[in-house]
Amino acid sequence: MTQRPYNFSAGPAALPEAVLSQVAADMLNWQGSGMSVMEMSHRGKHFGEIHAQALADFRELMAVPPEFKVLFMQGGGLGENAIVPMNLSGGGVVDFVDSGIWSKKSAKEAAKYATVRVAAQTEGREGIPDAGAWKLSPDAAYVHICSNETINGLEFFDLPDLKALGCDAPLVADMSSHILTRQIDWSRVGLAFAGAQKNIGPAGLTIVVIREDLLDRALPICPSAFHYKTVAENDSMYNTPPTFAIYVAGLVFKWVKAQGGVAAMGALAQAKSDALYAAIDGSELYSNPIHVSCRSRMNVPFFLSDDALNASFLEGAQAAGLLQLKGHKSVGGMRASLYNAVPAAAVQALTQYMREFESRQG
Ligand code: PMP
Repeated sequence: MTQRPYNFSAGPAALPEAVLSQVAADMLNWQGSGMSVMEMSHRGKHFGEIHAQALADFRELMAVPPEFKVLFMQGGGLGENAIVPMNLSGGGVVDFVDSGIWSKKSAKEAAKYATVRVAAQTEGREGIPDAGAWKLSPDAAYVHICSNETINGLEFFDLPDLKALGCDAPLVADMSSHILTRQIDWSRVGLAFAGAQKNIGPAGLTIVVIREDLLDRALPICPSAFHYKTVAENDSMYNTPPTFAIYVAGLVFKWVKAQGGVAAMGALAQAKSDALYAAIDGSELYSNPIHVSCRSRMNVPFFLSDDALNASFLEGAQAAGLLQLKGHKSVGGMRASLYNAVPAAAVQALTQYMREFESRQG
């Protein structure tokens, strides 16, 4: 096969080619079982091995401490926006940092179950306000952040140390778009969740990492399949899990380990995003509005100085084998997502195309 185009989708996003090839090779007969993974009982021996290995590899990659459970769930990021408050809010007060579109959506959904307060607000233009300046509620059941805003393109490089600020509420972090790209200080986290379709694997799987003491706080209305304690007690097999997505995620975890783990992914993400921001900042045509202190390494939105050029930019990019660069409809412009499976060569090709496009404008 000729070289595949480079794929900058924000999600569902590029997967490592080696993983896709393995999936193709396994499709009709997984390891001599005579079955595709899609056709196996989730309670059988084969899938049991796949599930246990994926779980162990994820824990190892993210150095998840023993006092946390890792749950393989369904429902995606938006599902967790309801599942988290049903499990953790107790119907009381919850604090949010409003840092962009995904945290806004989370707050709006949580307001169905709890009283939402905004502890801090930023659009990223002046950086993320220091946690010491957040207006934390003394009675908050938890504090929610979106640690990488996929649409706006800003990333929290430091998770707040709430305890040091005199706040006992657990931190909840939506890590959907930067999980597996850096180590996490778990002592600062109560719960983290991530939809799989960016750095983990196919859509359909949602990973939740939750401190054990938070498992049993759900409101009575919480559906059993989304009750963290029930899910944990059943090793994420209370209901049928997204088996195929878990299997592909397991292959991605093995691939990440073979690349050198999360540290190697982080170094690569830094190098790729540095190269793209340098190209943007060094040009007259392109701009990125986010403060350098919190520019995302994963999602790089950029805007052409004249929107009338957007269509021809995208058309030329497509012809050059650079796919899915159109920005989110709510902000317009362009966005390049640089998840783990996007190689450095993709960014080289993109920056070269950007320079050529700019020089053609005369
Ligand atoms: N949170 C973040 C940070 C996201 O990027 C997304 C999806 N792009 C979501 C939540 C929503 O995820 P889903 O579509 O899986 O519900």
